[in-house]
Amino acid sequence: MYDVIVIGGGPAGLTAALYARRAGLTTLVLEGGALGGQAASTPEIENWPGSLHLSGAEFAMNLYEQVKALGAEVRFERASGLRDEGAVKRVLTPSGSWEGRTVILANGVRRRKLEVPGEERLAGRGVSYCATCDGNFFRGRETAVVGGGNTALEDALFLAKLCPKVWLIHRRDTFRGEEHLVRAVEHTGNIVPLMEHRVLSIRGDERVESVEVAGPEGVRELPVAGVFAAVGLIPDNSPFSPPLELDEHGYVRSGEDCRTNVPGVFAAGDTRAKVLRQLVTAAADGASAARQAGEYLD
Ligand code: NAP
Repeated sequence: MYDVIVIGGGPAGLTAALYARRAGLTTLVLEGGALGGQAASTPEIENWPGSLHLSGAEFAMNLYEQVKALGAEVRFERASGLRDEGAVKRVLTPSGSWEGRTVILANGVRRRKLEVPGEERLAGRGVSYCATCDGNFFRGRETAVVGGGNTALEDALFLAKLCPKVWLIHRRDTFRGEEHLVRAVEHTGNIVPLMEHRVLSIRGDERVESVEVAGPEGVRELPVAGVFAAVGLIPDNSPFSPPLELDEHGYVRSGEDCRTNVPGVFAAGDTRAKVLRQLVTAAADGASAARQAGEYLD
């Protein structure tokens, strides 16, 4: 029986574990994939206060070493459900379950799919959701990035260093991403923005050979070897609801104190309903949730 079970080993979850251990609480972190969450695949973190140069991988590794040194237990298991048994919270995994007095849900969000013909069949064979992970496979080849947020702009800038041409396909006439990234894209000669364009299909037999797009001038086929989808994030909370209440978009309902509708269960980071989803707000949530868990146990 742990004092705190943290579901998710991203910035929110690992910060929660850090604060829980510093408060002397026995802590288990369950992570179903790679530590560090979305931040781990970011080449350069530019908005972590006080840090001029930090890669996502370094950030994740530092945080992991910090929580391990403080005595948190980290297990690579995916939590598949949550049962509220009053004083005991049971976290289900495919191979069994873990018992905690409190639970901090910090499972983040997952990447949205384009949902066009060819995407699923060619996933991993030219269709990718992580430019920093897979970009190097496309060195010297033409590629396309889909989306208009920070991720799409950063992906296009990253790929432009490796690829002769990067098409940036966005469905609206303005980008959603931050101004400094938009300016950087505009000043990068081998990024070709295709505004007001939608992807119709991704084509190829064994691997991606082209992407079919529709825009104001009609339908055209772009000869690309890779399609990087960067069309946003969606929460993945159905395994935990019930007992947790979700909002209409699927995020866990909770306030700044990270309390949920279930006493003893807290939500931290991107998984909860909130205005700003950033590294600093995720870490801040982790600290608040651990503090609230300590108060609940007291
Ligand atoms: P996002 O900001 O939600 O942007 C998603 C983009 O994809 C939008 O431009 C959206 O178009 C487009 N889109 C959504 N569904 C689509 C579809 N089915 N087909 C085509 N296009 C579609 O997502 P994100 O860029 O992954 O960023 C997620 C969060 O992380 C944001 O809060 C972002 O600020 C943050 N982030 C921050 C940094 C940083 O600070 N350096 C880096 C990366 C991410 P519309 O614009 O038309 O809606």
